[in-house]
Amino acid sequence: MKTFLAYFIPILLAYAVGAIGAYVQGDALVEWYPGLVKSPATPPAILFPIAWSVLYLLMGISAGTMLSKGDVSVLRLWLLQLLLNFLWSVMFFALRSPFLGLICILALDVAVMAYIIYTAGRRPAAAWLFVPYMLWLIFATYLNGYIYINNHNTKVAVAKSVANPKFSMVPLPYSKDALAPIMSERTLYYHYDKHYKSYIDNTNRLVVGTPFDGMTLEEVVLKSDGILFNNAAQTLNHQIYFEGLTPVRKVIPKELEHLIIRDFGSVEEFNRAFTSASVGLFGSGWVWLAENGDGRLLVVPTKDADNPMCHNLNPLMCIDVWEHAYYLDYQNRRADFVKGYMDLIDWDKVVMRLKYQ
Ligand code: MN
Repeated sequence: MKTFLAYFIPILLAYAVGAIGAYVQGDALVEWYPGLVKSPATPPAILFPIAWSVLYLLMGISAGTMLSKGDVSVLRLWLLQLLLNFLWSVMFFALRSPFLGLICILALDVAVMAYIIYTAGRRPAAAWLFVPYMLWLIFATYLNGYIYINNHNTKVAVAKSVANPKFSMVPLPYSKDALAPIMSERTLYYHYDKHYKSYIDNTNRLVVGTPFDGMTLEEVVLKSDGILFNNAAQTLNHQIYFEGLTPVRKVIPKELEHLIIRDFGSVEEFNRAFTSASVGLFGSGWVWLAENGDGRLLVVPTKDADNPMCHNLNPLMCIDVWEHAYYLDYQNRRADFVKGYMDLIDWDKVVMRLKYQ
């Protein structure tokens, strides 16, 4: 019984701290974190809960192997690292401070290193069980450090509102439940009211008192970089996306069909090209139907917040293949989401956006 508790209690404790930590991260993960400039090495969001679940288990078993032999000397060090782990969540996500987060995670690195050194001399198994955690922490320290160095305006992004917001949200041209079951009301609520809103709020906060203040959204996208570019471009991308959807199944207007056949060979060939680009895009991004200066139509995948405008192309329509666009409805089945999206395209809007024909 004692042995069982020695393992069970630390494991439970690690998961409890993890669960509270995840709760603290809640809104920030939706509102603040996506707008940050992040390392290109940042793994997809789904990997984090999986990694932490495994690490908490190993962490608990490590403490258990010490405690089951009656060795409680390491307990304080183990609890200290768990506390620092939680504090990191609070500083980084709840207070939205990459700087304080970095301090916490550096302290955590030291505590975990000390735990490994201390346990190695007593029970090597307990030390080895902490090694994956140490490696993950070094990687997390790098990710946190990258965010700290590359987001000098994060304080601005924390501010809750600005007096006269420059840009306002485009209304959805349909009700939020109109695209179900392909796109559920819940997905549209999070996507439109949370993600899109946070990009536009951040853009409004970041342009205040800068030369970007008097510009149109398109000008900001073309002339900015870093965190402002990420938020402004994501605002524009989402506007094109949401405005390009319709609950009424539309046929491709003749003039557009003619262009598609001219440039892709057939409508089916275009569908194949657009679908495979959307399914195949690695990580977060968008796939576009765009028009070049000669009026040719192209399928263009872009990474993260990038927009075809930045490459002298005119965007006509787009699919959002960030996980947040489909995860609630389709989890990892992006191909099913893409298939559904093809039935929601408002082809009349695509025609309206043509510029070079
Ligand atoms: Mn999105």
